[in-house]
Amino acid sequence: MSLTGRRALVTGSTSGIGLGVARALCGEGAHVMLNGFGDPEEIERLRASMVAEFTVNVAYVDADLTRASEVERLVNSAIETFGGLDILVNNAGVQFVSSIEDFPIEQWDKIIALNLSSVFLGMRAAIPTMKSQGWGRIINIASAHGLVASQQKVAYVAAKHGVVGVTKVAALELANHGVTVNAICPGWVLTPLVEKQIKDRANAAGTSVAHESEELLREKQPMLSFTSPASVGSLVVFLCSDAAATMTGAPISIDGGWVSQ
Ligand code: NAD
Repeated sequence: MSLTGRRALVTGSTSGIGLGVARALCGEGAHVMLNGFGDPEEIERLRASMVAEFTVNVAYVDADLTRASEVERLVNSAIETFGGLDILVNNAGVQFVSSIEDFPIEQWDKIIALNLSSVFLGMRAAIPTMKSQGWGRIINIASAHGLVASQQKVAYVAAKHGVVGVTKVAALELANHGVTVNAICPGWVLTPLVEKQIKDRANAAGTSVAHESEELLREKQPMLSFTSPASVGSLVVFLCSDAAATMTGAPISIDGGWVSQ
């Protein structure tokens, strides 16, 4: 296993892409700190099942990453639990869909806080440890919306473009410290975040979920199928490997051709 003994923190890993990434890292022998919301008993079952399946340490901290002090607490807790931190995956994120003139200010503030500021704060807290170790991998989950825009997603598009920007700055600052920093830009991945958008569209249009899933893909992705959380996990594992040692500052698309248009 390529990451045996590495210590990782994946934010927003109780569901969707973050869970796929956490499972992929554990599958390569890394110890993982989980984070995110959900029913405490279900999260404990998930944590215990990952320990049993992969024979690695899996911990969990329930920090709300819209709050700066909580991001710091989470990173410090991962460092204390594992005695260091080798891999940080900033993944937690939410979506809200509305035109600019109707966009609620509290939704703007929440999306900027979680999808952008928590990435800055997570890196800020983790970098001293990674620098002192002389090795680290930071992977920020941006989006195709970090590279191109869509209507009705002003806060999300602003935050994800920001994530690509902060990734590049961190890559420059860490270029000679053994730490790489990259952004992954997925297209559609079928997770609760996207399932909600599909259901909302089906309710508004009076159509079926299957029909709206097809429409969603057809509007944006030349390749008419969803990326899986496991595929994003495999890409993260690759970015943590020695083969990717000189890949840094890159926004990496895994989007079925979305931004090629
Ligand atoms: P998801 O809703 O399945 O998972 C989001 C995770 O973040 C969950 O674990 C949730 O509990 C956690 N979370 C939510 N609010 C939080 C908070 N305040 N503090 C801590 N954790 C919180 O969503 P997903 O689709 O897996 O999205 C994960 C990331 O991938 C997001 O940054 C999203 O923008 C990005 N992304 C998703 C897609 C897609 O098509 N699903 C595409 C591109 C990028």
